[in-house]
Order: sequence, then C-alpha cells, then structure tokens
Amino acid sequence: MIEHKHEIVIIGAGIAGLAAALEVAIAGKDVAVVSKVFPTRSHSVAAQGGTAAALGNMEEDHWQWHFYDTVKGSDFLGDQDAQAFFCQEAIKTAYFLEHIGVPFSRTEDGRILQRYFGGHYSNFGQGKPVRRACLAADRIGHAMLHTLFGQCLHYKVVFYNEFLATHLILHDEGCAGFLAWSLAEGKMHIFQAKAVLLATGGYARLFEISTNSAINTGDGMGMVLEAGLPLEDMEFVQFHPTGLYPWGFLISEGVRGEGGWLLNNDGERFMSRYAPEKIELAPRDVVSRAIQSEVKAGRGINGKPYVHLDITHLPDELIKEKLPQIREMCLKFAGIDPKRHPIPVAPAAHYSMGGIPVNINCEVLWNGKEEPLPGLFAAGECACVSIHGANRLGTNSTMECAVFGRRAGKQMAKMVDKRDFLPLPNRTLKEKMEEIKELLTRPSRQNITEIRERLQKSMSQNCGILREKWGLMKQLEILHQLKIAFKEVGLRGESLVFSLAFQQALELKHMLNLAEAIVRGALARTESRGAHYRTDFPQRDDQNWLKHTLIFKKGNQFVLDYKPVVITQFQPEERRF
Ligand SMILES: Cc1cc2nc3c(=O)[nH]c(=O)nc-3n(C[C@H](O)[C@H](O)[C@H](O)COP(=O)(O)OP(=O)(O)OC[C@H]3O[C@@H](n4cnc5c(N)ncnc54)[C@H](O)[C@@H]3O)c2cc1C
Repeated sequence: MIEHKHEIVIIGAGIAGLAAALEVAIAGKDVAVVSKVFPTRSHSVAAQGGTAAALGNMEEDHWQWHFYDTVKGSDFLGDQDAQAFFCQEAIKTAYFLEHIGVPFSRTEDGRILQRYFGGHYSNFGQGKPVRRACLAADRIGHAMLHTLFGQCLHYKVVFYNEFLATHLILHDEGCAGFLAWSLAEGKMHIFQAKAVLLATGGYARLFEISTNSAINTGDGMGMVLEAGLPLEDMEFVQFHPTGLYPWGFLISEGVRGEGGWLLNNDGERFMSRYAPEKIELAPRDVVSRAIQSEVKAGRGINGKPYVHLDITHLPDELIKEKLPQIREMCLKFAGIDPKRHPIPVAPAAHYSMGGIPVNINCEVLWNGKEEPLPGLFAAGECACVSIHGANRLGTNSTMECAVFGRRAGKQMAKMVDKRDFLPLPNRTLKEKMEEIKELLTRPSRQNITEIRERLQKSMSQNCGILREKWGLMKQLEILHQLKIAFKEVGLRGESLVFSLAFQQALELKHMLNLAEAIVRGALARTESRGAHYRTDFPQRDDQNWLKHTLIFKKGNQFVLDYKPVVITQFQPEERRF
C-alpha cells in the first residue's frame, strides 16, 4: 500500500472542499485535496441560479430577513444558531468571493447583480419577494468552482485527482486518516492526517430521476455510517420541481425568478391555487407537491407526468443575457426553443438536507449530539449543521458550502499545531483490506447495474415526494433483497486500473445503506414536514416531531435516536405562502 502524510487532507473538491483548502493554504499549512473526479468536474460546477446573501443591492434587504426565510423554509427543523450565523457570514463571504475573482453579473453601477428565488421575501416573510440570489448569468457554480480552483493552484494546494476514498480509519482517540483507490494506477493508498475534512457532496443519484451528476452517490455519508457514526435527518430529500422531462436535467429556479409560469394541461397557472401569494416563488417542497398533485388529478400535459414551464412571454434579451445555459440545454436536449415553446418539466431528486452531524465549527460529532470526534470534519452538502432542516431554500447551498467550507478550513488550520498524527491501527487496516480482497476474489453472480437500477426505481416509487407506511415497508423488504444480491457481486479477474465495476461496487455499497437510513427515518417520522410528506400523516406534528433524527448502523441493524432542534428566536408557526 502506498502511504501519504499531510497535516490536513480534504476529501472532495467541490465548492466546500476547495473553499476549505484555500483557507488552510492561506494559513500556510500543509494541505492536500483528494477527489474522485478532476476538481472542476465536481457537481458544484452545475449550480445555475445563484448564491444567497442579503446584500440589498437591488432593494432593501437584511440578514435577519434571510434568517427568518431560512427558518420558515426549513419548516422550523433547522438549528437557529447555525442559521443566524450562516445568514450573517453569507454577506461577508459574498464579498470574499468577489475579491478572489468570482465573475458575478453586475448592476448598471457595478455591484453584484441579484435575482428573485423561491422562499426569499422581505420584512420577515410579510413583504414582497426580494432579490437575494447573487448571480453569474445562469452559471454560478461554474464561476465559484473555477475561481476557487485557480486560487488553490496559486496557493500550491496539493491535488490527488481521480482518487476514490473507500474507508475512514478511526482510532479510539479520533480520526487517523483514510484509505483511497487510485483509478489510474489501480492501487490502494493510505492517507494519514491530523485532520480530515469530508466534503463529498450529496446522494441524489439514489433516485431514478435526478438533477445530479452520476458521481453523487453519497460516499462520504456512507463511510461515516460504516464507521459506526450517525447520520442526521436523512428522510429529508429535496425534489426540485423543474427537472427537464423526461431526463431530470435541472431547469433552474432562476427561470421562475425571472418571471416563468407553471402551467397545467388546461393552460392554468395552477400554483395560484396552492400558494396564492407567492405563486411560482413558493419554496420547492410546496411546488413539487403541487406538480405531483396536478399530475395525479389528470392535469399533466396530455395525461403525462409533467407540466409546462412557460417563458415565451419574457423578452428575448433577458433570456439571452440571464438564462443562456437554460436556453442551450432546452435546444440541445429537448429540441425546444424556450422563447417559442413551453419547457416540459417534472420534479427530480436534487439535494440531501440531512447528512453528517456537525457542530457550528464543522466538527463531526461522535454520537451526533455534543462531543466532537477529534480530527474529523465535514462541510457542504454531505454535512448537516443544520441550516436547511426539512427543506432547503434555493441558493442557500452554494453559500453554505462557501461559508462552512471556509469555517472548516480555518478551524483545521488552528487545531493542527496542537495535535499529533495518530498511529494507523493495524487491525482496522487489515479488516478493510480483507473486505476489498474478498470482493476482488469472489466470482460474480449478480449484475451491479441491475441492482443499482432496481434501487433507484424503487426508491423513487416508494420513498419519493409522497410517502406512506405500506410503500416504505415494501421498500425495506426490497432493500433487504438488494443487499442479499449485492453480497453476490464479485469482481474476480477484474483489473483495478480505471475499473468502472470496482467504482460502482464501492458506491453501491454506500447507496444501499443510505437508502435504508432514509427509509427508516421516513417510516418512523409519522408527520409531514418540509420535503418529507406522508399521505397517511399529512399534518406537521410539533408536539412529537420537532426533533432531529439520528441513525446509526450497528452491524446489520439500523438504530434510531433523536435530538432537540435549537430554537433561539422564531417559534414554529404555520407555513403559508
Ligand atoms: C444541477 C444543479 C444545480 C444547482 N444549482 C444551485 C444553485 O443555483 N444554487 C445553490 O445554492 N445550489 C445549487 N445546487 C446545489 C449545490 O450546487 C450543491 O449542493 C453544492 O454545490 C454541493 O457542493 P459540495 O462541495 O458539497 O459537493 P460537490 O460539488 O458535489 O463535490 C463533491 C466532491 O466530492 C468528491 N467525492 C465524492 N465522493 C468521493 C470519494 N469517495 N472519494 C474522493 N472524492 C469524492 C467529488 O469528486 C467532488 O469533488 C445545484 C445542484 C445541482 C445538482
């Protein structure tokens, strides 16, 4: 096995990972980034609409209004200490990003341009929508990721590209490092570090129709679960209302922000029945359920499971200047010019609200509650701090990655002087290598792709936008069968150099465990809150369920636990839009 030693190693080169790496490098510490794809291919590059900060460049805005919207958007399940911190830091971070060179779109007088997005309003939700999403045309992720990558190169961050982390190595005293497979050489490597940051992104590829890149399989969360640590609020999966039908490619909420209408088969702007005031600019959970309900009532376009997103009434110039990529995507994939014809859209799995429980300093918590696990950090979509609670507001994620990525970087840079490298526990290493060896010597009796597709289809069917007890129970049984099938996957004779089969097997193991964590959390939570909607329990139930779910994997058993939500300022109220 090939060994590497760095003071700080970051797994993941999306916005969260690179924002952290940059801070560590600026602090002059030894830092390396390990990523399973080339950094600028991370899913962050696909972010379109914008990044949130109450700059007030277009009209009056305040971080406290952003705070209230984030709390209400989260259906009161977010932790308000973290949410308040986030909304204040977002403003400083937007200017930091501007200073390092992110090419934001500009107002006439040269300030950062901002646009409307669902769930962002003025005056503590009482006023009109407010333009809070800082944009770079419809390519905010590209602008942020490439700028951060350029800065990381400038500060001489070391990159291990096309290295896939497989197992965390934990010690009684904390995190000692992790194992990774180098795709190009086909060899296993071991990374020893004083601090490891997980910035591995989300898992929305667990579902059949998804806006996410193929690489978003939740590996970091899977590694945490496997290491005996808990995950938090996994039942909250965001379905974006407007994936391009039938593929699921994202049509940004920025399109509705710029004035797009949602129409059913009767040509009706149906959102005015579901959210009379905010209409298309209601939060995502509300809009996705509305589309699903229209389709169920037979008002999908020509009886099919999609509706129309119409921008034919918007000026040509606006579409070209502010939505160029959307137009190109519609032309290329669907053969539709959105200036002339409405865009076919349907909800698609998009974002994981839950993840690895961390405190406000991005330290991973042993039992998911108070005590940090020395040397292990998490930030970005794989972490749950928890800003988004039961439902994330659009544009809050890229900003969360930047705010908490930087925070994690600064924390790690501070702690490494006080901490030694931990010895690598031989027994754990041996066990992990045995597991890999077994997979590589077993003959194959099952097809990985088939198992993955059955997993994705069944998760969409039984644990999608609308859920109920029997569907969830059925899904647990399906997962049980799929796990038995997975034990018969073998890669005997497979070369590990660029082995797609090896990669898929490693990812599938995590996907199966994450699916079970989601379904078990969803089955237990007998209420509807944010993105988790139980048709058999359609009301929010604060008395019993105003709490975070924690789920552990102990051997083959999953164990649930709960912890209170931090409420500092806004008491739960009914969510109306
Ligand atoms: C199409 C689309 C549009 C979006 N638009 C917006 C938007 O406009 N505004 C907004 O705020 N949010 C948006 N989001 C959400 C937002 O982009 C993401 O939540 C965010 O960018 C995630 O960043 P991250 O750094 O956490 O992870 P990612 O960018 O997903 O990066 C994960 C990194 O982890 C690495 N990795 C994963 N597993 C392993 C492993 N086993 N070993 C080594 N490396 C590994 C990957 O190589 C990658 O570098 C959008 C998301 C999508 C899918």
